[in-house]
Order: sequence, then structure tokens, then C-alpha cells
Amino acid sequence: MALTLYNTLAREKQVFKPIDAKNVRMYVCGPTVYDFAHIGNARPVIVFDVLFRLLRHIYGESHVTYVRNITDVEDKIIARAAERGVSIRDLTEGTAKVYQEDALALGNLPPTLEPRVTDSMPEIIAMIAKLVANKHAYVAEGHVLFDVSSDPDYGKLSRRALDEMIAGARVEVAPYKKNPMDFVLWKPSEGDMPGWDSPWGKGRPGWHIECSAMGEKHLGETFDIHGGGIDLQFPHHENEIAQSEGAHHGKPIANYWMHNGFLQVEGEKMSKSLGNFITIRELLAEKVFGGQVWHGRVLRLAMLGTHYRQPIDWTVDRLAQTKATIMEWARMLHGELSADAPDDEVMSALSDDLNSPAALAAIYGLASAARANTGDRRRLKRTLSFLGLYADERDTDFAVGHELDAAKIEGLIAARNAARRAKNFAEADRLRGEISTLGVAIEDGPGGTTWKVVS
Ligand code: AMP
Ligand code: ZN
Repeated sequence: MALTLYNTLAREKQVFKPIDAKNVRMYVCGPTVYDFAHIGNARPVIVFDVLFRLLRHIYGESHVTYVRNITDVEDKIIARAAERGVSIRDLTEGTAKVYQEDALALGNLPPTLEPRVTDSMPEIIAMIAKLVANKHAYVAEGHVLFDVSSDPDYGKLSRRALDEMIAGARVEVAPYKKNPMDFVLWKPSEGDMPGWDSPWGKGRPGWHIECSAMGEKHLGETFDIHGGGIDLQFPHHENEIAQSEGAHHGKPIANYWMHNGFLQVEGEKMSKSLGNFITIRELLAEKVFGGQVWHGRVLRLAMLGTHYRQPIDWTVDRLAQTKATIMEWARMLHGELSADAPDDEVMSALSDDLNSPAALAAIYGLASAARANTGDRRRLKRTLSFLGLYADERDTDFAVGHELDAAKIEGLIAARNAARRAKNFAEADRLRGEISTLGVAIEDGPGGTTWKVVS
């Protein structure tokens, strides 16, 4: 089964060939931890988790290294900590913890490594020093800047020429820049701003250099896959390429570049000013979207319904349909054994540039067959577990399959009691039967009818 991936660098699907099949290496840009992650941020987390799972399946669990950084030094962090009157460390640690909990709730495996910028300062400073030595960077007024004119390949990922970039981008003009597209590698920190000693004085890194330095530190000079959202293609990833290749005498930083499309909400760009900005936490724990809370696995399945390179429209309707599917699976598969391997058709759909809609179509076919056939149920369970859409802990599956259905169960019980009062015993029996198909037993007592999940 050949794995093909769409490589943004080449603008085509290519057969994936790892540098070392014993250690397949992937880097994905992680969050800047100044605030809770929104549901758009969940998209790369889920998409690249599916790829991580697929690579582990193909090459073996211990032969894949997945690095997703945590950006804990950034001007937005400094501003937010000051606004809230908390220390930078409390803000970044608290936000990173919520991020990790959210990612787990969405059914993602933890990456192999989650390096923090604050733990990577020697490597960042060393890489900047190399760029200065290689004449790809220059020092000006306490800043170190990358000199884009030193790199004839600059623009190869986004395929833009330098003059177009200058016209199109909101470039920060600064008197110390030789060229408006030159970007900051190091900047001075005054007073109580977070800062580290360096050959250029006390300062802190620019945003782009951290990913180049952490990639090199944990994955080597050249690794296999680099991922992130489409918005990062320019300038962030373009700059990562310029820095790493400038520091490593032209050796490529990554062989395959992958970008997920954007998420919008009910047909509109998500933004605080439109009032449609939703965090993962809110979806999981507060009734702010469609008036209900949503289980993490519902959010995950909803995300995988659209191919990762397409834009996705996040709607209440989409979640409601997805919830019905997740609940049906949870009920059907509860207590069932699991097959040894996931379904072949699903795996080959995923191997075609992570075609999750085709994979889900195959899963829906399997689910129809599974209603009648134990073998298919086992295969379905194994396939869903593989995708992070079914957890093996009994309790969570109970919760998804039954607890969320409480309103429906209560409604059926009320209808049955009404039928009994009207002496329509045939209807009351039919309703009791319907309730039992939900995996619930009812008991009539002096205090009314109670119900419990049958294990
Ligand atoms: P940020 O914290 O803004 O750097 O974003 C973290 C990750 O989420 C990056 O990979 C972004 O490309 C991605 N991202 C941000 N907003 C969206 C969105 N609306 N849809 C999909 N991905 C997004
Ligand atoms: Zn990055």
C-alpha cells in the first residue's frame, strides 16, 4: 500500500518515501499559548494526528517521531500577561495545559515531543549565529535580521517573487532593515521583558527561528514532513525554509510540506468581531453552539468529514448529524471484541493523501454490514479505534452511547406512561421495546419509572 501525500512545495501528490523507514520524522507548528485554542486550531491537530497514526501503522509505532512545538515566548503572550496581571509563566503553563487536555479530548495521541521555545534557547542562538557567519543575517540596532537578498530561492514555497511579496504583504517597515522583506531573528528585550543573554545583547527570538531550531534539534537537519495550516505557508514556512537551508548550506529542511485548509463557522470567517469565535473548550463544556455540549469524538468525526485541504464549514447541523452517528456506533460496538487489523478499504483511502471523506464512506458501509454481522462489528470497532473515533474505555463509550441520549429515553418513558394511563397496553409495550433497543432497562416503582444502562 503506497502512501501518497500532496506536497505543497511541488504542488502535486507524490509517493511518500521516508529518509529512514526506521525513524520517520514529522514537525507540525503548534500553538502560541496566550489564550484557549479555537476550533480552527483543532483542525491541524486532528489532521496531523491521523497522519501520525497512519505512519505508525505503516512503519511501526516506535519508528515515527512527531514533534509539535509550544510557542511560549511571543509578544502577544507578554501583552496578555500584563493585561491579566499574571506572570508569563503562569499564563503559558496554564494555557498549554488546557491545550493538551483539549487535544486529548478530541481523541488525539500526544505527539512524541512537545518542545517549548523557552527550553530551546541555546539552539536558537546557535542557529542565528550560524546565519550571521554564513552571511544570511546581519546585526542592526540590537536586532538580528535575515537578509532575504542573500537567498535566491526565497519564495519557493509560496511561489511569489520578492516584489510581489512587498506589494502584497503588510511588511513591517523599520529603519534598520536593508530590505522590507527582511525578517527578525532576534530582538532586544528591555527592562523586565523576558530576555536571554546572547552575542547581540539581552533579547528574545523572532517567531520563525524557533521552528527551524527545534526542528533541527529534535529531527535533524532534514526531516520528512512539515505541516501546519495554510495561513502559515507565507511568511512563516517560507522563512523557516530560508533559515534552515541558510544554516545548513542549502540542505532541505523537509521533503514534504503539508497544509490544512481553513475552517469557517456557519459560512463566515471566524472572528471575535463577528461573535462567531468558538474555543474547543466551549464546544466541549458549555452550551454555546447549538445550545448543547459536544463530545470530543463528535467534533473529531465532524472534522474528518471534509478532506483536509478543502475549506470546512463548521455548522450546528454538521455536529448534530455526526452526534447521531457516533451514538449509534457506541451503542452497537459496546461490549464487542475488536478485530486484529483495521479495514483495508479505509486504510487505502487514507493512504491516498489522507482522503478521510472516502475513508468515512467505507466506514459507513462497514457500519451497515455490522448491524447484521459480528465479524464486521469487530472490524468496525478496530477501524474506529485506529482513527481515534472509539475509545476502549468502557465508561466513555457508555457516556457517548447512552448518557447523551437521556432526553430521548425520558421522552419515550413519558410516552409509555401516558399510553399506560390511557390503557393502550399494546402501545406501552411497543415503547418499552423501543427503549430496550437503546440498551436501557426500565423499572416501574412507587416513585415513578427509572432507567439504567444495561451493561
Ligand atoms: P496559531 O496559533 O494562529 O499559529 O495557529 C495554530 C495552528 O492553527 C496553525 O497551524 C494555523 O494554521 C491553524 N489555524 C488557525 N486558524 C485556523 C482556521 N480557522 N482553520 C484551520 N486552521 C487554522
Ligand atoms: Zn512553525
